[in-house]
Amino acid sequence: MDIYDHPTFRMACQQFDRVAEYWQIPADEQARLKFPKRSMTVALPVHMDDGRTKVFTGHRVQHHLTLGPTKGGLRYHPAVALGEVAALAMWMSWKCALAGLPYGGAKGGIACDPLHLSQTELERLTRRYTQEMIPFIGEKVDVMAPDMGTNEQTMAWMMDTYSVHTGYTVPSIVTGKPVSIGGSLGRRESTGRGVGYLINRTMDTIGLEPGHSRAVVQGFGNVGSVAAFSLAKYGVKIVGVSDVSGGLHNAAGIDLWELEKYAAAKRTIAGFAGAEHVTNEQLLELPCEILVPAAMERQITGGNAAKIKCRILAEAANGPTTPEADVILDQREEIFILPDILCNAGGVIVSYFEWVQDLQSFFWTETEVMDKLFRILEGAFLQVLALSRKQKVSMRMAALSVGIKRVQEAKKIRGLFP
Ligand code: GLU
Repeated sequence: MDIYDHPTFRMACQQFDRVAEYWQIPADEQARLKFPKRSMTVALPVHMDDGRTKVFTGHRVQHHLTLGPTKGGLRYHPAVALGEVAALAMWMSWKCALAGLPYGGAKGGIACDPLHLSQTELERLTRRYTQEMIPFIGEKVDVMAPDMGTNEQTMAWMMDTYSVHTGYTVPSIVTGKPVSIGGSLGRRESTGRGVGYLINRTMDTIGLEPGHSRAVVQGFGNVGSVAAFSLAKYGVKIVGVSDVSGGLHNAAGIDLWELEKYAAAKRTIAGFAGAEHVTNEQLLELPCEILVPAAMERQITGGNAAKIKCRILAEAANGPTTPEADVILDQREEIFILPDILCNAGGVIVSYFEWVQDLQSFFWTETEVMDKLFRILEGAFLQVLALSRKQKVSMRMAALSVGIKRVQEAKKIRGLFP
């Protein structure tokens, strides 16, 4: 499928191929499982504040529809491309299946730089994208959520645009909304808190003391910052963080509360006085017990996998580790990998809770949400760990295997129409 050709799509396919080969999935079943079911690309003309009209490109890829509606985020980033979105949709499929959610995977994106758009431009862009997607989405068809560069406000505009079109309010059309319009308590923090929970669980499994552990977090967005706070609450010292401007390092520990205040005021962590500047490359190679890539894909590569110095690699981002890096990490038995589709699954799990609450118009307390979230994460963690130990395969191979085999089984039992 040449239309999806992109380094990130090739990477997702390579991961899939390894699993398919390991379990000897027949070739005709492989093709059905691997390629996205549908994709849509739209041109989005938007009135800019200066009076010009600019046309942006938006995508949505729905990977498979076998288990229910498709589910996944919407990304605003200059590098968004159809192949990248397709890879992210594929990972959503395995992630939802691993967590036992009744969803296929999807992802959307608009190639734009949200940091250089005003709020009114962002609103017009979001509403136009939603309008263009109306034939393609629905609460029982495809449900969007925030991803890189989007947030609760983006979801509120989407929900409003869709509801105005429908003629009545449809909260379940998106998740990750503000709580005041049908969002779930705990959704905003769910990905980062899930990451924190699973790291704590892993420290327990491999015998690391939180109080004697240091963490480096790449990315100080919604996921990275909440994960950093969550680790700090378990007693871990945060010695490195970064954002698009570069990294910060302080071997004595970074004051997260001060950093958060600074970042809120300046919209960047650059220039924060409580740490030294390091480059993104240096950050990933800092000595620590826990390394948390929480930014873009393809950060741990064949070039730096031998140089990272951690005991736990917790993949809060989607696809941060390339297959070339995996070959090197497979030899480094001292490193325990929490693979992305497990590590960051907290977000989509609480999105599922939000969707269920919206459909029932019956809302849960934050304690109920968190309790149910940790139960699902615990079950998935134990299942992946058990398979990895039984088959003597990596945690990534085990996690992908559980997800892919669930979808394979569902496709098989439903049969092929006509
Ligand atoms: N964008 C998030 C992810 O990559 C969340 C998706 C969702 O909640 O649907 O998992």
